[in-house]
Amino acid sequence: MQLLHEPADMHAFGVRLAQVLRPGDLIILSGDLGAGKTTLTKGIGAGLGVAGVVASPTFIIARVHRPTDGRIPLVHVDAYRLSSLDELDDLDLDVSMDDSVTVVEWGSGMAERLSDSYLEIHLEARDDDARELTMTGHDGDWSARIAQIEKETTC
Ligand code: ADP
Ligand code: MG
Repeated sequence: MQLLHEPADMHAFGVRLAQVLRPGDLIILSGDLGAGKTTLTKGIGAGLGVAGVVASPTFIIARVHRPTDGRIPLVHVDAYRLSSLDELDDLDLDVSMDDSVTVVEWGSGMAERLSDSYLEIHLEARDDDARELTMTGHDGDWSARIAQIEKETTC
């Protein structure tokens, strides 16, 4: 578990997380409204070096952010209003998930179907406004990557 005291800490954690991400990765974010999912995604976008401000895509379902300097595109999905992610296939995004990092807010219970391997991140607000962040890797080499991020966080 990671404790992020400020929004800037959450953003910085996203930047660090981006360093271990590869094309084809899927990240599923859960946590209540205001838990920090979009703040974390902005950090991931900054770490990937994508163009454009990563805003909450709540009203548009999905947004593609392209890298300015040849890293990996970010596909940012807000599943809040979707009943199933089959609708994601119909969106006709102009990048493929295999070539991108896909981050899905509110995706838990739905987005798992998109890939066998995914990183689940749960955010929980504490009374003092700090956020507890828990990562669970499913399949793939997530546990090694989580260990790497946690090592960097403690040094
Ligand atoms: P979500 O996408 O989960 O609804 P947002 O990232 O859009 O959440 O919003 C999180 C809100 O909580 C922001 O207004 C942010 O400034 C505030 N906040 C306060 N403390 C933290 C923290 N430790 N980490 C992340 N956000 C925080
Ligand atoms: Mg959000």
